[in-house]
Parts: sequence; structure tokens; C-alpha cells
Amino acid sequence: MEFPIFKTKIKGITQKFNLSDPEERKAYFELKAGKEIKKLRDYLKQKTFIAYILGKKNSGKGTYVKMFKEIVDEDRIEHFSLGDTVRQLDEVVRDKEKKKELILFLEKNYRGYLSLEEIISALEKRSTNFLLPSELILTLAKMEIAKRGKKAFFIDGFPRTLDQVSYSLFFRELIDYREDPDLFILIDVPEAVIDERIRWRRVCPKCQTPRNLKLLPSSKVGYDEKNKQFYLICDNPGCKGERMISKEADELGNEPIRERLKMDEKLMKKAFSLYGIPKILLRNCIPIEKAAEYVDDYEITPEYDYKWLSESSKVKVIEKPWQVSDDDGVVSYSLLAAPVVLSLIRQMVKILNL
Ligand SMILES: [Zn+2]
Repeated sequence: MEFPIFKTKIKGITQKFNLSDPEERKAYFELKAGKEIKKLRDYLKQKTFIAYILGKKNSGKGTYVKMFKEIVDEDRIEHFSLGDTVRQLDEVVRDKEKKKELILFLEKNYRGYLSLEEIISALEKRSTNFLLPSELILTLAKMEIAKRGKKAFFIDGFPRTLDQVSYSLFFRELIDYREDPDLFILIDVPEAVIDERIRWRRVCPKCQTPRNLKLLPSSKVGYDEKNKQFYLICDNPGCKGERMISKEADELGNEPIRERLKMDEKLMKKAFSLYGIPKILLRNCIPIEKAAEYVDDYEITPEYDYKWLSESSKVKVIEKPWQVSDDDGVVSYSLLAAPVVLSLIRQMVKILNL
């Protein structure tokens, strides 16, 4: 799979933006893709699309879609994760009302080799080795769409298995979106990036705000002199200086999800090889030697390091561009979400022929 490098640098423009600030982010998109955003908004007033978003676990799928919605149109675009739907089934079959609703929908819409009774009974027993049949997954995707009405959709977590890639080719007919385009969005993120995102993840034990000690610190950093460790302090206004913590398995990075990453890669390769359905290719990394030509400095993900100044009892924060090896071992910069979303916007306009 070859993902092209996307150029977000515009000749003659020297203005810089702080992309973590929502207002500046808006101005950034206005400057770099104002025309395209307007075209998409006009399009969405009349029409829709179905986009299947595929990428490895922790590749930032949710972040990209959320930002696309924020910039283009919050009301006419919907995003759901079929993985969430499947996880919640457990709870659904335990709730009388919700279970009734689910069965009602399935009775009307499900067709497959296992009877509904067999499926529901397996769900109730929480048998973990019970793999939900693809026909059911398809019906669940249909159900999520029916809940939300006629809108443009980003669907995350479908297809989930290799055979479901073929199902997805006919999905828009199944949900009566015949006239509206469907497309795949494939996200290429090096595993080293995923590994560090997990490894340095920190979370507030009180309000659950997620941060990253290396890549996305809060505004306050503390130092534990006894353990010689730096830590983040939650800066959520409602949370009075809670010390953020790391979850136990996180220090293992990618290791516990290795099988899952392999499967995700296979799925992407399969989707990549499809003919006839348009594809958007998003790339998170850029080789260092090409960076100056293709992107602006402020679009590159910084990394943070800390130094303890014992005389003043203060933590010094050191910021520099984060260097990471891509899956072929090429030393690269990782891009912030905004330039990747910019690439998504421009490619979407092209595919929709706007
Ligand atoms: Zn908090």
C-alpha cells in the first residue's frame, strides 16, 4: 500500500497557527481550504455520502472525523462506531425495553444462517467465543443509520472482517442510499506512533480527560522528587489539580494489541485492492527530508520533554518536533490532526466532483 504525501504548504503564505486553539484552527482551515469547505457545505444541504473509515486501532479515526464535522457541518454529518454498538449489545440484552426494541428491528431486517433466538441467547450468555455473524453486523449497521435519519455518515468499525469488505460494496443499496456516493477512507499511521500514543497516555482519575505526557501535555506539569518522575496535572477547570495517571497495561504500548493491529492491516489491504469504489488515502507521517517542501512547521506534532530546576523548584518544558520511524524505518515527522483533515477535505471534494 503506497500512500502519497499530501502537500498542505501553500506558496507565499507565511502565517502561523496554533492548531490546538479552536478559533485559530478555524482560521487555518478557512485559509487553506475555504473554497472546498463551502462546496462541501452546499453539497450536504441536498445530498449525503457513506464513508467507511479504516485504520489501525488508535490511528486517530475518531479525532479526524470529529474535526471534519466541526469544520464542515456538525448537523448533517453523523459518525458512529460499530465496535461500540457491538460492545453495547451486552447491556442492551439485559435491559427489557432496549432488548424489545432490538428484537423488533431484527425481526424486520435480519436475514442470516443463525436464528434470532440463537443469537440473542448467545448474547445473553455473554459467550466470548461467539463471533457475531456478518449478516447480523450488517443489520446492526443498518439499525444505527435508521436511528439517525438521512445524513452523511462516517462509519467506523465496519467492515470488521475480511468477508465483510465485500458486503460493504452493496451496503448503500441495502440502506436505500442508491444515488449517494460511498467511499473508503484509509488511514496510514506508523505503528511506532500508535505505540507511543499508548505508552505515554495519561488520564485524569476524576474527570477522565485524556492527555499524553510526551505528545499532549496539560498546561501544568509536576515533578515527583521521590520517584524522579514527571506527571501531568489535570487543567480541566472543574477539576482542582488532580494528578493524572497511566493505566497499567499502557506501559506495554502496542504489545497487547499486536494481533488486532495485524487484522486491521489485512482489512486495509483488502479495501485498498478494491476496484470501482473511490478511496481517500490519509497519511499521518512525512519523511523528514521532505517536510520543508510539503508542510508548514506548525503542522508537525511536537514532542515534550521536561527538566527539573531544583533551585527554583520548577519544571522546564522543552518542545521540539517529534521524530519517529515509519513502518519502513524512514525517519519521519508525525502530522497533527488538522493537516490530515485538510487532506481529507480536499480529497473528498475531488471524489464528490464538486
Ligand atoms: Zn480532571
